[in-house]
This record gives sequence, C-alpha cells and structure tokens, in this order.
Amino acid sequence: MSTIQDKVVVIMGASSGIGEATTKLLAQQGAKLIIAARRLERLEAIKEEYPEGDIHIQQADVTNYEDVKKVVGLAMDTYGRIDVLYNNAGIMPTAPIVEGRREEWQQMLDINVMGVLNGIAAVVPIMAIQKSGHIIATDSVAGHVVYPDSAIYCGTKFAVRAIMEGLRQEQRENNIKSTIISPGAVATELYQTINDKNVSEDLHKAQKEWGLVADDIASAVVFAIDTPGRMAVSDMIVRPTTQPM
Ligand code: NDP
Repeated sequence: MSTIQDKVVVIMGASSGIGEATTKLLAQQGAKLIIAARRLERLEAIKEEYPEGDIHIQQADVTNYEDVKKVVGLAMDTYGRIDVLYNNAGIMPTAPIVEGRREEWQQMLDINVMGVLNGIAAVVPIMAIQKSGHIIATDSVAGHVVYPDSAIYCGTKFAVRAIMEGLRQEQRENNIKSTIISPGAVATELYQTINDKNVSEDLHKAQKEWGLVADDIASAVVFAIDTPGRMAVSDMIVRPTTQPM
C-alpha cells in the first residue's frame, strides 16, 4: 500500500519540468503539497488542475533565505509537520570556462548550492525535533562525472552530492533520510537557462530526441518517498537507456 497519502511534501522549484511532474504525481496520490518557485502564475495553473488536491502555493526564490523560511512556515502553519522537503530548483547555464561568465557561475552557485542549503537549514531543526523526515535533492549525472563546457554546473552538482551525504551521516540518528536523484538528460525547460542560443537549441533538440520525460524522474522521486521507515534511498541515477555518459 502506498505511504504517499497525507504525507506533507514541500517542493522547491515546482513550476516546471521535474518539479511540476513530481507535484502532479504526488497530488494524484493524495499528498499534502506546498509548492514554491519564482513564477507564481505557473504554480497557480498547477493548483487549478487539481481542484480536489491539497496544494498550497508560495512564491519563493531559493537564494533568498527569508523566502525559503516562508515556504517552510506555510507548511508548518498549515499541517504542523513536514515529512519531505524536495530541493529541486536548479539552472544550467553551461559554457566553456574560458568565456569567464562569472555572473552565471555565481547564479549557479547561489541557486544550485545555496538554494539547497537554504532548504536544509530551514527544515533540519524541525525534522530533528520530529525525529523523522526526508530531504531530497535533484542532483545529476553531472554530479558524478565531469564533462567539457559544464565544469561549473558539474561542480555545483558534485557539491550537492557531498552535502547530501554529509547530511545523511549527521542526521541518520534523528531518523532523517537523505536522497539524491541524479537524472541524465530529461526534456524540460532547463535548456532555456543556457544563454548561448546555439548551445541551448542543440541541447533542447537532443533532449527531445532521446531524453527522458519529466514524469520518469517524478516516478523515481515518488519511489524514494514511498519507502518504509527502515529504508532510505541515498542516490538514484536515472539515465535514458541510450545515454553514453
Ligand atoms: P526546469 O527549468 O523545467 O525547472 C527548474 C525549476 O527550478 C523551475 O521550477 C524553476 O522555477 C526553479 N528555479 C530555478 N531557479 C530558481 C530560484 N532561484 N528560486 C526558486 N526556484 C527556482 O528544469 P528541470 O526540471 O530539468 O530542472 C530541475 C532540476 O533537475 C534542476 O536542479 C536541474 O539541475 C536538474 N537536472 C535536470 C536535468 C535535465 O536534463 N533536465 C538533468 C539532471 C539534473 P522558477 O523559474 O519559476 O523559479
């Protein structure tokens, strides 16, 4: 029997792609959802699709700790507990290092790394008191291997993998699960965060041709959430079958 029903799940970066697909799959299974991102109109559209669902929306930029605390506060005020935090927000403005796109590097560090840390900082004290909880982050194959023109993105995803493993070790005795889901190529809007138009369009084409769909990753996230208390999925790599790297 599914354990998803009535679980309180907070999703950061829920307005499109993997976060949106996960929100919908969890809503269909009766989870209580608090979903956040910067594009409020996209969150509103998702909520409208599930009039019977238990979905609360909150505009938030994960780089802003006050915003993240507001999302967590909404979950606590509404339900008095948080079972799962899914840190999914991320961007991927890839380019060769020689181009020196320092602003993009800073944004990637702020969103992909500090965004995850902001979520962790906001919920770990709550979950430690609860003596239960589950923190999930969307990592990447790029958190396991490095490839050209993606060094900084890979760096952020390697960092998330290290942080989530440290979290696991430190918080296991509080019964807090730590999971990273590491997708290969998935057809989402992520290509739009690449500022070089040619690179962006090539990636979009490739992802549509042989990438996974966001629902595939959502099913992996739901699998990790729907595990018995004794069982924690630490890292799940989910690639398109034909992906070489
Ligand atoms: P999308 O671009 O469709 O989704 C990204 C999500 O992150 C959106 O909901 C976006 O919402 C949110 N987001 C970005 N910046 C912020 C911010 N500052 N504050 C709050 N939310 C933010 O792409 P994906 O679904 O593909 O990406 C989801 C995750 O999956 C990312 O972490 C990405 O690195 C990872 N990933 C994706 C792969 C792929 O091939 N697609 C492969 C491996 C990993 P909004 O803009 O409304 O704020």
